[in-house]
Amino acid sequence: MRCTFGQVQFRLSSPVLLTLLIAACQSFGQTSERKVTQLADGVYAIQHQNLIDGNISGNTTVIIGDREVFVVDSTYRQSAALEDIAQIHQWTNKPVGYLLNTHFHNDHNNGNKTYMDAFPSLAIVAQEETKKDMDLIQPGNIERQPRELDTLIATFRQGKDQSGRPLTEDEKKEVQELLPKLEQAEAESKTLVYQSPTLTFTDKIVVDLGNRQVQVMHLGRGNTPGDAIVYLPKEKIVVAGDLLVHPIPFTGDGFPAEWAQTLHKMGELEATTIVPGHGPILHDKTYLYLMADLMQSAVDQVRARISQLGFPGGYTLDEIKGSVDLTPFRAKFAGDDKDLQDQFDDMAKHLVKITFSEAAQR
Ligand SMILES: [Zn+2]
Repeated sequence: MRCTFGQVQFRLSSPVLLTLLIAACQSFGQTSERKVTQLADGVYAIQHQNLIDGNISGNTTVIIGDREVFVVDSTYRQSAALEDIAQIHQWTNKPVGYLLNTHFHNDHNNGNKTYMDAFPSLAIVAQEETKKDMDLIQPGNIERQPRELDTLIATFRQGKDQSGRPLTEDEKKEVQELLPKLEQAEAESKTLVYQSPTLTFTDKIVVDLGNRQVQVMHLGRGNTPGDAIVYLPKEKIVVAGDLLVHPIPFTGDGFPAEWAQTLHKMGELEATTIVPGHGPILHDKTYLYLMADLMQSAVDQVRARISQLGFPGGYTLDEIKGSVDLTPFRAKFAGDDKDLQDQFDDMAKHLVKITFSEAAQR
């Protein structure tokens, strides 16, 4: 279904809220149910049901050992984290000993306090840059989120979008469907309490859960400065965080030149199952290499333009972006799905922006 909010600019402090609203308008009419997939004996991936339809809440992976449990990402909503914890209790009577935050975006760690309350001896693990970013950004997010949602709800109730433009009749109908979900999000966001990671690492930690080895690695920068992945060598499973988001990458943040290299390092791991940060479980590395190729193409084209123009501090993104063409990748990511094609084009714009920003700050 064509999104009628496509022209609306939402100004919100959190990438997830922005994504939430974009996804909401792009996915009207679609459902997004909670889905649990067993990846191996004692290893499960959870795709969350979203408050607003769309691919918003980060996936969670649960790894059960003989003594304790390792969880990857505590997702966006505390209520979803509670549901996951109830499910973990059904799977095992072992406690959750470790919770990894793959990166600082709050759709992967808003549930931290919920886990800490349920398992008081829990270690919350993060790469050191991720903890720094969370401590810097999350407390403000938690304060701003209810206010921003309040303002957005009030604006929609007045029949306008955030730029003050009156909504069309079709948009008003969609807003009527969206409002109760936004109100639910707002009520839940008011009860959110920040919980920082308690155990940081630089490059790698190896945890033995009892007959189950979990490797936690920072392979380099990508979607954020502190991306962490999990590798289960025996089970040949990789949990990628938002270094991989399927079917359309999330490029609201990141370092594309390093991202491509990080993806190639991930590709070197012997793996037959890959859990992306959002979206369904992948069973080969085709998408991983497609994403690495997309990043590299953006980087190569931006660099070629810089080499024509010279000193990058002297010009703007506008002078770059016309020289970068990522449309050859559109069909590979989006097929002939019009909504996905629109999402791809939006993603490509962000990708050129962050590629230029990274190149200019080299
Ligand atoms: Zn995410």
